[in-house]
Amino acid sequence: MGIHADFVVRNARIRTLSESLPFAEALAAWRGRILAVGREEEIAPLIGPGTRVLDAGGGTVLPGFHDAHCHILLFGLSLVEVNLREAQTIADVVAAVAAHVRRTPPGKWIRGGGYNENKLRERRHPTRHDLDPVSPQHPVWLSHISGHMGVANSQALAIAGIARETPDPPGGRIVRDADGEPTGLLLETAQELVKRVLPPYTLEETKAALAAAGRRMAEEGITAAQDAWAGWIAPEEFRAYQEAVAEGLLPQRVWLMVDVERLAVRDRRFDFAFGLHTGFGSDRLRLGAIKIFIDGSLIGRTAALRRPYADPPDATGMLVKDPQTLLELIRLAHAGGWQVAMHAIGDRAIEVALDAIEEVMGPEAGRFRPRIEHCGVLAPDLLERIRRLQVVVVTQPRFLYELGDGFRIALGEERMRWTYPLASLRGVPVALSSDRPVVDGAPMKGIQAAVVRRTQSGTPFVPEEAFTLEEALRAYTIGAAYAAFAEAELGTLEPGRWADLVVLGADPFETDPEALESIPIRATVIGGRIVYEA
Ligand SMILES: [Zn+2]
Repeated sequence: MGIHADFVVRNARIRTLSESLPFAEALAAWRGRILAVGREEEIAPLIGPGTRVLDAGGGTVLPGFHDAHCHILLFGLSLVEVNLREAQTIADVVAAVAAHVRRTPPGKWIRGGGYNENKLRERRHPTRHDLDPVSPQHPVWLSHISGHMGVANSQALAIAGIARETPDPPGGRIVRDADGEPTGLLLETAQELVKRVLPPYTLEETKAALAAAGRRMAEEGITAAQDAWAGWIAPEEFRAYQEAVAEGLLPQRVWLMVDVERLAVRDRRFDFAFGLHTGFGSDRLRLGAIKIFIDGSLIGRTAALRRPYADPPDATGMLVKDPQTLLELIRLAHAGGWQVAMHAIGDRAIEVALDAIEEVMGPEAGRFRPRIEHCGVLAPDLLERIRRLQVVVVTQPRFLYELGDGFRIALGEERMRWTYPLASLRGVPVALSSDRPVVDGAPMKGIQAAVVRRTQSGTPFVPEEAFTLEEALRAYTIGAAYAAFAEAELGTLEPGRWADLVVLGADPFETDPEALESIPIRATVIGGRIVYEA
């Protein structure tokens, strides 16, 4: 009597992404790990009375998708709060608020956002006069998609103490109408007047948002996700992650990256000075890299460039911190055993990141797997340094589709050929990811963007920099695992690794590249357990 598997997927076209056995028909798992992969007749004897058998119906099985850079809690909040990303009119905004008011007790805050006044038919921001009629008993706060401004209703303005006579704070503006009355729109630092009176998210609210994110990610075939900036949104965020994972609300394997500022801070918040570092935790939830911001964004013109933007031509963006401070932070993090993940988008920021990596980690830096997140404007000399140092590039192909037209305006034509390149990264460790909720995080959408490279307006975005489908899939699985030191556990379907997989309704290798994102997800399996089935 041999051993029986507790999970088997069969009648499948399995693409394992492993070199030793790239194709198979069935896979067996036991206690979360892959026991065997092979032909139907090889796996059949492992099926016993207690085996959960998933018939893939001839569908294609791949290793589960692994989002190496996303914002799980922010994404979850965008799902449970007022979501205005699709709003096309002021009436849509008002209707979305009204729907939340109906199911929220009077006096509780209604919050959310994601509106873009350029996408609203009226081409203006909502005002408190739009919102007040549907929210007489609820304070309302709606963030603009950029995060640089937001709109409050009259209740919220009153709670924040904002009135006609309130002066504009330094670095911000309370927008007023012709009579001098606040309209509800608050720019930049003026938002703080409302944000400081917003009640912190409770543990239950935080868990509910994580559960919403977990559900959606399971529907999209995501089996692992690295949160690129944890610990800033809710007071009990780590506890919420811990409980959501333990209770199965968040079924994915999760990595939490923490901000480097937390290394030195000793205030009422959690303090990472116990010798904790990258890798602490379990196979379900662990600490990832330390996150260090070097610059801002291309769309916001805050990404640090070596030569000025094409528009406006006098701007070069900015470094968040001076290079000397960055060097010290990276030295501190590295000495403390942390993997370092640097947010760097502009070529000036990437250069500063590479200088620091080389100085702190030396010519063999690659063995510490320093990460550059985004890696937007990758001039040829910087690419050569990345290749030599074997820095891990964690990039977001979906940006090309959703933000690519804006990149062209910001940078001009000449720099396009090294903006978010992929093909040129051959020989460099690459992990693909989404940065959701900044853009849509469905992996098949990111993979399509990586192989097609076309913007929302239909304009090709340097198509010669495309990845092949095989490369894109590997970067969304093996590459992401490598970026988290987890390639021995995850990323391919072979015995001993976790049974984390996705069942697709069609074979992506036999699908028109333009139709990749419409391939249905039939099932998602994490640790041999079905977490989603269509
Ligand atoms: Zn991010």
